[in-house]
Amino acid sequence: MSAPSPTKPFNLAIVGGGITGLTLAITLLQHNVPFTVYESAAQFGEIGAGVGFGPNAVVAMMLISPLMKEAYNRCRTLQWESKRGVWFGARVGDRRKAGDDGTFEHGGQPGVKIGDQMFEVFYPNIDHIGGVGGVHRAHFLDQLVKLVPKSVARFGKRLVDISKASDGSEDVVLHFADGTTAQHTAVLGCDGIKSQTRKILLGSDEWNAVFSGKCAYRGLVPMPKAIELLGEEKAMNSQIYFGYHGHILTFPIEKGKTMNVVAFASRESWTSTDWVARVSKEELMADFRTWGPTATAIISAMERHDVWALFDHPPAPTYYGTQPRICLVGDAAHATTPHQGSGAGMGIEDCYILGNLIGEANSVEDLDRVFRAYDEVRRPRTQGIVRTSREAGRLWDFELEDHGDDVDALQRNMETRMHWIWNIDLAGELDRAKAIFRQSA
Ligand SMILES: Cc1cc2nc3c(=O)[nH]c(=O)nc-3n(C[C@H](O)[C@H](O)[C@H](O)COP(=O)(O)OP(=O)(O)OC[C@H]3O[C@@H](n4cnc5c(N)ncnc54)[C@H](O)[C@@H]3O)c2cc1C
Repeated sequence: MSAPSPTKPFNLAIVGGGITGLTLAITLLQHNVPFTVYESAAQFGEIGAGVGFGPNAVVAMMLISPLMKEAYNRCRTLQWESKRGVWFGARVGDRRKAGDDGTFEHGGQPGVKIGDQMFEVFYPNIDHIGGVGGVHRAHFLDQLVKLVPKSVARFGKRLVDISKASDGSEDVVLHFADGTTAQHTAVLGCDGIKSQTRKILLGSDEWNAVFSGKCAYRGLVPMPKAIELLGEEKAMNSQIYFGYHGHILTFPIEKGKTMNVVAFASRESWTSTDWVARVSKEELMADFRTWGPTATAIISAMERHDVWALFDHPPAPTYYGTQPRICLVGDAAHATTPHQGSGAGMGIEDCYILGNLIGEANSVEDLDRVFRAYDEVRRPRTQGIVRTSREAGRLWDFELEDHGDDVDALQRNMETRMHWIWNIDLAGELDRAKAIFRQSA
């Protein structure tokens, strides 16, 4: 990839080169917008875990660029042909749901065992995108990196502050931890859940991420081992196992070579300043001691035992400011718990809308109106995701009022709760944002 030949009277700074920062870079390249990516790490990188995308995220990738969709296709792992339209096969994993005979009732049918499939949740109509599937994060990021010219990236650049330029230009000056500075027209903050740009924009700790009451053990299981323990159908297709104050997700990644596992547990509080901790296998097993043999087999096969405290953002009053010009994108704007598998997907949607709006801008003043239109269109949807994701976590963990451990109510809820997320008309949303941009001229 070569760097864009600039056609715009402005020059942007993207802070953070995760999935959002790189996707925004790819989108801006489509419009020959000049930009530089500042990343605090020594290179682009992601952790060795899985991430799933809903149809909305895959459509956003397609709309951003066929190259991005191809990058995703190279990494995604499809389920069995017969399961292509299935989000999750749903099961109960916690033995406490069963009576003395080891069974419970679902859908008017008695005799359902712990670990048995109760129902499947379907994506509505995904044929046009050729299927959805999970990816290995590091492999997906590597593919995105290939779509961004090396010359636009600066590494080892940890943003610490942003000020207004003193040369009368209304530019922003980025200050980095290594003592260097850089001057741009605006900052696009893609620096994740602990975002420094968010702190600078919102100017108070009130909007910092808060503990959600859940944590997640993340791990990988080699597929041959997963098949040996669970059988092919469970191991090679996405599953969710419900329980009391916890749930477990599994889905295949790396073209079926690996089963990704995320095991969630509720916690009253999180006091450590570290959000990721190495735990012993015994500690991990203790959280699932009341669970049945399928869940126990999954947990005991996990190769690493890291626990992640799950934080999310209070709803920010705005995603942008004009003095100095800053706009928040992805997790920096709206970090969510992962219970609806939508955080990274929202960042990709943001990039589609914001990147294309910036493509419409032809002056520095236009950028302010772009940010306003982006904020108006994206803030309600993305903050809705954060709110409903917390609720979903309590639903999967038998903690939601009016649902508890009623698996029939849970099924009714689950069958439709994702439709507003998956069925979004993104091209229509971009038209709406462009109309707001034009009307504000
Ligand atoms: C357990 C778990 C499971 C998840 N599963 C899913 C899923 O299945 N599907 C889904 O869509 N989402 C999922 N998510 C959410 C998803 O991981 C995030 O929404 C997504 O990774 C956010 O990407 P981002 O690029 O916005 O932020 P990040 O990935 O956090 O990237 C931020 C980048 O900015 C850099 N940076 C940070 N601070 C600075 C600074 N001051 N200066 C310069 N650079 C900086 C960082 O080094 C990093 O490269 C999950 C999250 C968790 C915790």
